[in-house]
Amino acid sequence: MRHVLLCAARHAAPGRRLGRFALDELGSGAGLPGRVYQQGHPLWIRDLAADTASLRSRAAARIGLHVAVGVPINTGARSIGALCVYGDRIEDPEDSLTTLLVGVAAQVGQYLERRRAEELTIELARTKDEFLALVTHELRNPLAVITSTASLLEEELDGLLDADQRHYVHTILRGAGRLSVMADDLLDLAQLESGHLAIDPAPSDLAAIVEHAVAAIAAQTAEKTLTVTVDTPPRLDLYADSNRLQQVADNLLSNAVKYTPAGGTITITATTDPDQAWITWTFTDTGIGIGIPAADRPHLFRRFYRASTALDRRIPGTGLGLVITRTIIERHGGTITLANHNAPGTTFHIRIPTEPHITTDP
Ligand code: ADP
Repeated sequence: MRHVLLCAARHAAPGRRLGRFALDELGSGAGLPGRVYQQGHPLWIRDLAADTASLRSRAAARIGLHVAVGVPINTGARSIGALCVYGDRIEDPEDSLTTLLVGVAAQVGQYLERRRAEELTIELARTKDEFLALVTHELRNPLAVITSTASLLEEELDGLLDADQRHYVHTILRGAGRLSVMADDLLDLAQLESGHLAIDPAPSDLAAIVEHAVAAIAAQTAEKTLTVTVDTPPRLDLYADSNRLQQVADNLLSNAVKYTPAGGTITITATTDPDQAWITWTFTDTGIGIGIPAADRPHLFRRFYRASTALDRRIPGTGLGLVITRTIIERHGGTITLANHNAPGTTFHIRIPTEPHITTDP
């Protein structure tokens, strides 16, 4: 995975102009901070102008910075960043200064570790609350439906017509289906949180995946009189985990069905870029009113998050499908975004590489 270092703080002498030297993001291995982070030990550059292999060293030399020293910031045995100091005189490495900076970096590392632990504690408490809310509302609802329908069936079995019995059994099965989806989502979430969501890539066909998803939900689309339009080539080859991509297709399509009022249209498209390297895959629906309200949009991929439109209409759900969907796409080296459009409804826009995505550090 490619790590990106974000500049957390910067201090420069008053009046010194840093220009384009002051980057907010650097890839692992790029520039002095990236190299220190990647190698995990202190680095001293005595003359930045002579460091011709590095674009950033040359940029530093142009604004009058000549010496640089960087030390890694560690929490435990892991490197999480770098502390770098630049000066305007060419200087040979000085052990005492490096040792001093290593000491400062250790303090910063400890501080960050404490902050992270505090944030995790808060996050854990929030997850516990959200999980309790899910169990209280979403899980108890289908469970109550199953229990009450099964008791009715037991009490009245002898006097019931065949059609009524079938209706009761159907209701029980639907409730059980909802519980099983929630159990699967929660299991996936647990794997995702522990970093164990397995991706097992093999040659796959995205067109077939879309076709399966549409066929699997045909009964529900017919019941809601929704039109499903698919625009994909007959085959769309890529190297991916087809079971996981099936989960993505099922998730996005079932959301489109769930959140689009009767009579609406759902469109799925997938095309390969001219160079065959990437596939663009979209799911569009004519959904609830304006689609997902602006205030909800930034939070949509957060676990347990449900938009006001879903809550107001009491449409059942766990708020986990999109988190799982995004993780699967990202684990394939792709991206998923919620497109902006003025028409009513919602569009999810996926970009996924056709070959295994090898990320290289610069
Ligand atoms: P769930 O559907 O189980 O609530 P998701 O994670 O799949 O969970 O979706 C999160 C929220 O995003 C939903 O609760 C809903 O508010 C919103 N959402 C997702 N897809 C759509 C869609 N196609 N149209 C409108 N809202 C959607």
